[in-house]
Amino acid sequence: MDKSIEKIREEFISELNSASTSTQIEQLKIKFLGKKGPIVALMRSLKDCSKEERPKVGQLINSLKEEVATSCHKGFEDLLLREEKVKLESQKIDVTMPGKKSNKGRSHPIRQILNHILSIFKEMGFSIQYSPNIDSEHYNFESLNFEDDHPARDMQDTFYLSKEMLLRTHTSNIQARLMQKEKPPIRVVCPGKAFRNENISARSHVFFHQVEGFYIDENVTFADLISTLNSFFNKFFGQKIKMRFRSSYFPFVEPGLEADIECLVCSTKGCAICKNTGWLEVVGAGMIHPNVLKAGRVDPEKYTGYAWGLGVERLQMLLNNIPDIRMFTENDERFLSQF
Ligand SMILES: [Zn+2]
Repeated sequence: MDKSIEKIREEFISELNSASTSTQIEQLKIKFLGKKGPIVALMRSLKDCSKEERPKVGQLINSLKEEVATSCHKGFEDLLLREEKVKLESQKIDVTMPGKKSNKGRSHPIRQILNHILSIFKEMGFSIQYSPNIDSEHYNFESLNFEDDHPARDMQDTFYLSKEMLLRTHTSNIQARLMQKEKPPIRVVCPGKAFRNENISARSHVFFHQVEGFYIDENVTFADLISTLNSFFNKFFGQKIKMRFRSSYFPFVEPGLEADIECLVCSTKGCAICKNTGWLEVVGAGMIHPNVLKAGRVDPEKYTGYAWGLGVERLQMLLNNIPDIRMFTENDERFLSQF
């Protein structure tokens, strides 16, 4: 009996020494102390011992049982610690290592300039409203006094989606729609995209952004229009800006004008940016045509109004000397990260 106890002890120690994971020790414990294990078998065989031997042998079996349990517990803890240490070491962070550079997100240069423009008009008492990119021929052309045979209505210049529907060619499609909904005084700006079926080049694209603005009330005059545009550009550039107004024609205004600002690069002396004219064209505007007021169910005998359309890309190009309109849509980080 003594011999078989010793044999089990040796077997246990040898297996314990070769165990290298906490799971193996757990299994070892079950193997030696479990119901089908050798120690339980020894206990059962106690009854075969003589009465004199039984207490001594019983004590030996008990001390083996205790030894197995204690050794397993200790081995288990040691291995757990070792495993934890290996895991921690693999996760070690070198705090002196240089960090990874991540790119900062920012607004697109067009969004930035739009925000700047809109904040100025808001300050001047205009509210912001939106009109749809896809609209009917009625709101895009007819209500704005475009004749049936006006060249802008041609498929060559406009993206038609069906016989009636098209991609708006300007943000002016808001005018009649808003007039039908609201009573004067109306003082709004409408930012958004406009679409034209044009060849893409450094100076033109198939879509660009506009800020439409108009004001309708009793006794709105041409002088109000001039002074609104003047104070907008002074605020926009943060300095007093010289402006020049030239008469022009758009179907939806009468009279119509185009406004130039002084070239800030050469102060009207002439340079490559202004093509030696000293001036830069920035906005088309005018007094709202009586036919447009009528289309919006506003009485032209009682009310007058002015309207303008600003090209957003053009202003950003002037402000930052950007030579090519395509740069805004190419998503080149080297360009975008400069704003
Ligand atoms: Zn110039």
